[in-house]
Amino acid sequence: MIVICNGSRKGSWLSANQIWITKRFFIICSGSYEMLIINPVILEAKWRKNGPEWCLSKELHDVQMITRNTELRLKFEDWNWNEKIHYFRGIDAVIIQHEMDHLNWIVV
Ligand SMILES: [Zn+2]
Repeated sequence: MIVICNGSRKGSWLSANQIWITKRFFIICSGSYEMLIINPVILEAKWRKNGPEWCLSKELHDVQMITRNTELRLKFEDWNWNEKIHYFRGIDAVIIQHEMDHLNWIVV
């Protein structure tokens, strides 16, 4: 998954079920780091903003305007199955909500 994620020109994040792995995790590849997020649960979500969004599973020109929270407190497990709670803001918060939609079989 890391190879697919880093090798993609269209996106830098990928949920397991986008490649037909029916587990609840996704990976974020920022270029400088990779983060595996397993069994994510949003504990708190604040602020909402409408913005353009596209998906690796669709054509790049298929941009949708989506309203998302821009601050999240997220509980998940990491590579070593350690429970983590992190705050995410801005584009990272938006990406997490997008990937959590994928985990629920929603494609925007
Ligand atoms: Zn997507």
